[in-house]
Amino acid sequence: MTLVPLRRPGARPASATRAFLPTTREEMRARGWDELDVLIVTGDAYVDHPAFGPVLIARFLEGRGYRVGVIAQPNWQTPEDVSRMGRPRLFVGVSAGNLDSMLNKLTAQKKVRSADQYSPGGRTNCRPNRASIVYSNLCRQAFPGLPIVLGGIEASLRRIAHYDYWSDSVRRSILLDSKADLLVFGMGERAAWEIAKRLDAGEPLKGLWDIRGTAHVKNRPEEWQPLLADASRFITDRKLLPLPAYDDVLADRRKFADMSRLFQLETNPHNGRPMLQRHGDQAVFFNSPALPLAEADMDGLYDLPFVRAPHPSYGAERIPAFETVKHSIVTMRGCFGGCTFCSITEHEGRVIQSRSADSVLREVRQLSRMEGFSGTITDVGGPTANMYKMHCKDEKIERACRRLSCVHPGVCENLVTDHEPLIDLLRRVREQKGIKKTFIASGVRYDLAERSPEFIRELAAHHTGGQLSVAPEHNSPEVLKRMKKPGIQSYERFATAFCKASDELGREQYLVPYFITGHPGSTMKDTIELAQYLKRNGMRPRQVQDFIPTPMAVATTMYHTGFDPLTMEPVPVARELRDKRRMKALILWWDEAQWPLAREALIDAGRRDLIGLKPSCLIPPEHAGRSAGRFGGGRPASRTGNRERSRDRR
Ligand code: SF4
Repeated sequence: MTLVPLRRPGARPASATRAFLPTTREEMRARGWDELDVLIVTGDAYVDHPAFGPVLIARFLEGRGYRVGVIAQPNWQTPEDVSRMGRPRLFVGVSAGNLDSMLNKLTAQKKVRSADQYSPGGRTNCRPNRASIVYSNLCRQAFPGLPIVLGGIEASLRRIAHYDYWSDSVRRSILLDSKADLLVFGMGERAAWEIAKRLDAGEPLKGLWDIRGTAHVKNRPEEWQPLLADASRFITDRKLLPLPAYDDVLADRRKFADMSRLFQLETNPHNGRPMLQRHGDQAVFFNSPALPLAEADMDGLYDLPFVRAPHPSYGAERIPAFETVKHSIVTMRGCFGGCTFCSITEHEGRVIQSRSADSVLREVRQLSRMEGFSGTITDVGGPTANMYKMHCKDEKIERACRRLSCVHPGVCENLVTDHEPLIDLLRRVREQKGIKKTFIASGVRYDLAERSPEFIRELAAHHTGGQLSVAPEHNSPEVLKRMKKPGIQSYERFATAFCKASDELGREQYLVPYFITGHPGSTMKDTIELAQYLKRNGMRPRQVQDFIPTPMAVATTMYHTGFDPLTMEPVPVARELRDKRRMKALILWWDEAQWPLAREALIDAGRRDLIGLKPSCLIPPEHAGRSAGRFGGGRPASRTGNRERSRDRR
């Protein structure tokens, strides 16, 4: 099935509002529509840009000829708001938005965030907690009997029984709480289109139960028991995998870890089996993941007529997430890294799906004509900056592969790590009329980059605005093993090469290394050693990410169960918020505001030897007076050499 869009006949609407998908009856009428085919309800503001997932699906369906409307951030106290455009003919698609609604609202310390990046003006409280569930129930009230299709990252990552950090509980599949008819997981274009087509053809909902990339509930035991009874035959035939039941994973952490491992092994769309998980008398059935998009399909998506702006109804209010992406270009989706704290591989898939260079250049030209564009592209990338067009050397091998990462514990010998297509693309982007600067802000995968000195040179010469973000995350081999990240030596080799290239170009540039504290496997001892490493190397991180156990990540299973689900080895876990705060304070060793907490941590860990004024100490003693100045403030102890300077994040 190709996804290349069919353009709807007729010219693009002229007025500012008519260029957007309708959000009101009046906007429907302006298009000459008396009814919608599909309604998309989203927890984010309506920004007509491909970086906003629910809008991407809406535009995609529009491109297939369906009449699609968008209701963004509806009033969830009454069903009236979601029904303001009437009952759609085929189905309503519901998404919490680009982020899990709980992650969007709360920090790792479980405090309410000061801003919502996906809401007008960054305002908070524009969406409910667990928005997928609330919106689905709202739509059920508004449109009795209408198929409700749940999608987006919140639904995708909560589709099986999962640990919810914010309530510190194991929750059942979100399908059961939302009472939606179907759940689309992963990237939803293929599934959404097939649902629309088959409903349009008059198929009953049950007929749609075989669509890849979807899940549904089997309500009665007689619907699922025969499948389980035959499970051994199915397993032999690679047809069905029964996951440990919800009641079992709720009661037994080892079973939860088993569920997580079994689930992870089925994420390759080419060999991932359908799965079934019992929840009491009900069961949730998961079809195999959707197949990845081909290059022409990716191009088709980005050729859709996005306005690349927030809906005019927001007036002058800015939407922070849009401000970040409005002058950036996505070149690919997917990630084969498989870092355990991240769910991109689970959501976007591990097969890299890239756009053609021509498609990217078309978007660059479109961008260059945009009002307010100054000539700077803020990012050319995707989940990772430098996986563009990388692939397994052999399709047959890729189809059979059951590894969770192509780059851990080392770069697979079958992985084609050629950076030439990316280098060539970046050169062509730079040559486009009206483009003055092209930056790379997506994270660079340094274990891949170090294989291409030419890419590092290009990066240093053209794509770094003085600072380059990289994410070594930690320096401990044991912690990095739990994270499935390369060893710190790989980062050091990359840093050396990048600084050398910057030196040769006469450019003073800085690496901005990111670190995570409180990741499962990371003890206070590891954190102290990381702080010592940072100080030794003149690195002063400004931001440290406190590990957040997000639904479905492998590291979340470690956090909840205390086991690495991939090996079933016990893993130490920092669960107390106070310990997490102390770990963060240690990594920010140079920041005076953190010293009281860091002192407490060092004293409790029996490391008073690291409190003092000697160069080997991490922080000064209390009441150290002016002599403490060299630990904090603006200047590092030493700035000899570009390598050190380039690793300092001031
Ligand atoms: S064989 Fe190697 S490169 Fe190919 S998909 Fe598997 S891990 Fe990735």
